[in-house]
Amino acid sequence: MSILKIARMGHPVLRKKSEEISDPQSEYVKYLVEDMLETLEDIQGLGLAAPQVHVSKKLVIFYSPPGEAETSEMDLNILINPIIEPIGDDIDYDWEGCLSVPGLRGLVPRYKKIRYKGLNEKGKKIDKTVEGLHARVVQHECDHLEGIIYVQRMDNLEDLVFESEMKFYNKF
Ligand code: ZN
Repeated sequence: MSILKIARMGHPVLRKKSEEISDPQSEYVKYLVEDMLETLEDIQGLGLAAPQVHVSKKLVIFYSPPGEAETSEMDLNILINPIIEPIGDDIDYDWEGCLSVPGLRGLVPRYKKIRYKGLNEKGKKIDKTVEGLHARVVQHECDHLEGIIYVQRMDNLEDLVFESEMKFYNKF
């Protein structure tokens, strides 16, 4: 296992549409997932998409708020070849950050509720309807697979700030 280098905004790999993974259970995917998990843990992030580690494939990993289980631990999700479908037109704004845009935070509109489908690393089908932070994280990570960074989703660049200046912003 190894910690991978994170591509930062401006690197062409972050602008490309990534490719479908034909065999989610392949050794290649297994090792990629292991390395991405180790990288995410090292950098203490909420989510990571394969293009952020210079691999243009449809794979994201992310933490989501705990589901049914009575635990305060976040759930770890591995999602391959995801498809997102918004449910309704409701939009929420909240602050986002990105490992590829270090030090900055932006106020980003996202669909409040979505349904997403895909496969996990064992080839098992995933089909979830989620809202709030879970929906936000999925939209953020899956945007990376389309070559989109959260800044491109913002409708007011005045709300793009350095983390260290966030204390001046109390919109939420
Ligand atoms: Zn990101």
